[in-house]
Amino acid sequence: MGFVSLGCPKALVDSEHIITQLRAEGYDISPSYDGADLVVINTCGFIDSAIEESLDAIGEALAENGQVIVTGCLGVNAERIRAAHPGVLAITGPHDKEGVMRAVHQHLPPPHDPFISLIPPQGIKLTPRHYAYLKISEGCNHRCTFCIIPSLRGDLVSRPIHEVLQEAENLVKAGTRELLVISQDTSAYGVDLRYRTGFWNGRPVRSHLTPLAEALGEMGAWVRLHYVYPYPHVDEVVELMAQKKVLPYLDIPFQHASTRLLRAMKRPGNVERTIERIHAWRSVCPDLTLRSTFITGFPGETEEDFQMLLDFLQEAQLDRVGCFTYSPVDGAAANALPGAVPEEVKQERQARLMALQETISTARLARHVGTIRQVLVDEVTAHGALARTSSDAPEIDGVVHVSLGSDLKSGSDPRPKLAVGEFANVWIEKSDTHDLWGRVVK
Ligand code: SF4
Repeated sequence: MGFVSLGCPKALVDSEHIITQLRAEGYDISPSYDGADLVVINTCGFIDSAIEESLDAIGEALAENGQVIVTGCLGVNAERIRAAHPGVLAITGPHDKEGVMRAVHQHLPPPHDPFISLIPPQGIKLTPRHYAYLKISEGCNHRCTFCIIPSLRGDLVSRPIHEVLQEAENLVKAGTRELLVISQDTSAYGVDLRYRTGFWNGRPVRSHLTPLAEALGEMGAWVRLHYVYPYPHVDEVVELMAQKKVLPYLDIPFQHASTRLLRAMKRPGNVERTIERIHAWRSVCPDLTLRSTFITGFPGETEEDFQMLLDFLQEAQLDRVGCFTYSPVDGAAANALPGAVPEEVKQERQARLMALQETISTARLARHVGTIRQVLVDEVTAHGALARTSSDAPEIDGVVHVSLGSDLKSGSDPRPKLAVGEFANVWIEKSDTHDLWGRVVK
C-alpha cells in the first residue's frame, strides 16, 4: 500500500490512524508507487496552493500507479477532484478512517490472516443467528439514586452512527431477522455527539434516535427498541412504529408512578404526563406494545405511593411488566435515604402489583385471539414451533406456541415445515397471562 500524507498536523494524525489500521489488518506500506497495489492520498484543502499540491499529488499517483483513494480535507470537495481526476477509486472527507478502510477493503481485500479471517464481518455473537443485540451507546448521563452504572461505566458515549448502521447491515446480511437496540438510555443516543450528522451509504444521517431508528427500519429486519426513556422525541419514534418502519414495541423502565418517589429516584423523562402520553401513543399506533419494570419498597415508599402505582397500572394497561423489590446496591445514593421499607412489605407489594398486572396482561393478550399475527420462529418443536410476535422480546416476554395448519403437514411426514429464523403468519386461537397459542396459516 502506498501512502501520501499532505497538510497540517491534524491531517498527519489522521494519516497515522489510517496507517495503524492498515498495518493492524496486515497491509504493508510501500515507499514507492511501483511497490504498491493501491495508493491512499490524505489531502489538504485549506488554501489554493495546498489544493493545487493535493491535485498534483493525485495526478502523479494516478500516472505512476493508477489505483488511488483520496481522503482528507479536499475530499469534501469531491466534484473538484473528480473534475480534475475522474479515475480516482473513492473519495472520503477528513477524519474518516472507516470510510477509507471501507474503500480499501472494496478495492484491495485484506490479506488472509488465520486469526482475523475466522471472525465474520458481523463479529462474534452469542445470540442465535436470527436475532442480535445492537448496542448504540455506553454509559449514562443520569444519576438515578438506586443505580451505580454511571460510576462503573461513566457518562454516555454514543457510537458513531455509521458504525452502528454498518454493524446492523453486516448482521442483516449474515441472516439476522431482528435487531434489538440496547444501551443504558436509548432515547439519549447522540446527545454527547451533539446529534452531529454522519454519513451512511453516501447519505447524511443525524446521530439521533429518530433517524437511527428510521435507517435501521429500512434494512428489512424487525427493529425493537429497549430502554427508551419518554423524552419528547419518542413521539416521533412512535410515528415510525405506526408507519411499520420499526416494531410497535416500547420498553420503558418507568420504575414508579409516584412523583415524589420518582424525584427521590432522580428518574429521567417527564414523569408527570406519562398517562397522557401513553394514551396519545396508542391513538397514533394502536398496535403498540408497552413493556416496563417497576420497583416496590424504594426507601420512603408509603402505602399511598404504592396505591398511586397500582392506579397507574390500572390506567396505563401496560402489556408487559416486570417488578423487583428494592435492594440496596453497594455505592448507590439511595442507600442513605430515610424510610427503609421492611422486606416483607416490599414483597407483599410486589405480589399485589403482579396480581393486578396478571389480570391486565391476560385481558391485553386475549384481544389477539381470532386475529392473524406475524411471528418469528425461535425454536422448532415436535408439534410445531415456539415463536414471537412484535409484542414479545426474546427471553423476557411471552411466546406463541405454534402448531401447523393441517394443509402444511405433508402426508406421512409429521415434521414441522417451519424453520428457526423464519417468519410465519399465525391464526391466534388461545391466550393466557403471558403466552399465545395458534396455528400457521398460509
Ligand atoms: S438511567 Fe438507567 S443506567 Fe442511567 S442512572 Fe438511571 S437506572 Fe442507571
